[in-house]
Amino acid sequence: MELNIFHMYPDLLNLYGDLGNVTCLKMRCQWRGITAKIIPFSMGQEVPLEEGDIFFIGGGSDRGQNMVYSHLLGYRQTMEDLIEDDAVFLSICGGYQFLGDKYIDAEGKDVPGLGIFDYETFSEEGRLIGNIITKNNLKLKPETLVGFENHGGRTYHDLKPLGTVIAGQGNNGKDQKEGMVYKNCIGTYLHGPLLPKNPHLADYLILKSLKRKYGACNLDELDDHLEYTAHQKVLELYSPK
Ligand code: GLN
Repeated sequence: MELNIFHMYPDLLNLYGDLGNVTCLKMRCQWRGITAKIIPFSMGQEVPLEEGDIFFIGGGSDRGQNMVYSHLLGYRQTMEDLIEDDAVFLSICGGYQFLGDKYIDAEGKDVPGLGIFDYETFSEEGRLIGNIITKNNLKLKPETLVGFENHGGRTYHDLKPLGTVIAGQGNNGKDQKEGMVYKNCIGTYLHGPLLPKNPHLADYLILKSLKRKYGACNLDELDDHLEYTAHQKVLELYSPK
């Protein structure tokens, strides 16, 4: 079996270990004898997105987001079609903001989003920074997702959140929601990188893409004791007392 992972704008959207998510997906496939090909692309490059199985967009500075949006808008329809067709998307922070209608950056400037989902993000005073723990809405075991967030943007929506905030800030620091899920598309503020510390989520994404492409129903078990030791450490340090 083979998966194509499109890594979007790794030179401009890559904060707090985001690249590690792509490496994690590749290694967890490789350890199981599944070939995972990473296809990075950036500004000025045209790629056949429809050949992808997993799509990754990382977070970026306001400057990076301003640079990328006009190029990204060229892929809007293809991305929407892929999402509707159950392709797997993981979009972190700035990438998550891009899936919505717009992001008003720290200088009050409009950064247009793809408008695939009906939400907006507003930069407000004071960044939301720190370790974060949520309870996932995907019925994954363990129930927690852990990560690190650092964003000025506050996102508001009525979509299904990826998780409920246990410690940290999430979408906006107010409504306890973190991220969003629609079909196999996930948006989240969790950097970290997210997937190595949450192998249950990594495998969820891999299995969803194998199911779509090959009808696969399960994955071989891996020895995840190191990964869950890291996960557990975050819970120990940052769970509310
Ligand atoms: N620039 C955006 C914000 O501050 C996204 C930051 C990020 O991707 N970490 O909200």
